[in-house]
Amino acid sequence: MSDTSTIDRRGLLLVLSSPSGAGKTTLARHLMATDTAISMSVSVTTRRPRPGEVDGKDYIFLDEDRFKAMADGNELLEWANVFGNFYGTPHAPVEAAISGGRDVLFDIDWQGAQQLSEKMKHDVVRVFILPPSAKSLEQRLRARAQDPEEVVRKRMDAAAAEISHWPEYDYVIVNSDLQKSMEGLSAILTAERLRRERLNGLTAFVRDLQREL
Ligand code: 5GP
Repeated sequence: MSDTSTIDRRGLLLVLSSPSGAGKTTLARHLMATDTAISMSVSVTTRRPRPGEVDGKDYIFLDEDRFKAMADGNELLEWANVFGNFYGTPHAPVEAAISGGRDVLFDIDWQGAQQLSEKMKHDVVRVFILPPSAKSLEQRLRARAQDPEEVVRKRMDAAAAEISHWPEYDYVIVNSDLQKSMEGLSAILTAERLRRERLNGLTAFVRDLQREL
């Protein structure tokens, strides 16, 4: 074995939360593009697709009956009502990933982060993304221009409530510069991957090492 990344380890669950418009989706996309060891959890939602969104890639879009059946059937690791729509994380792909030593990235709200932490404990690493200012948040929300005005208003009102949950997270990134934020996020991921508790293969590795000494 040449470095720590070759030692067997349990995958981790990297949760990104933020108010809408803080740049979380952009950060998540960049991370997915630059890090091959992490995959994105695709949530189910009852929200209607936005222009350009692809079913099965951005979300799995379904109706309320199907969503409720999944929630009742324990098929969801967590679920929440966000802005009047239901969102949830399918259980099976997450289990398969972490037991196979692969990491999973989540773009979920504070309610989901809380439920995930309760269920998956130390597998979860929580990162909260803050906008650098209220003004930048509003600008980003308006620039998106995909949502009707009333929805933008509602999301701005909801931002303060979402932000109040920052102390429940392990790390906080103020996203004023995408490049710097990406560096921060990669550093968090690198360090968390090296945590002794995640390295299942460490005992065997050190035993072999000591035997050779
Ligand atoms: P959007 O409709 O803009 O894609 O997402 C709205 C909010 O729902 C975002 O804050 C996003 O993080 C959150 N969200 C997306 N998927 C899930 C999920 O599976 N569970 C929870 N709890 N929140 C989610």
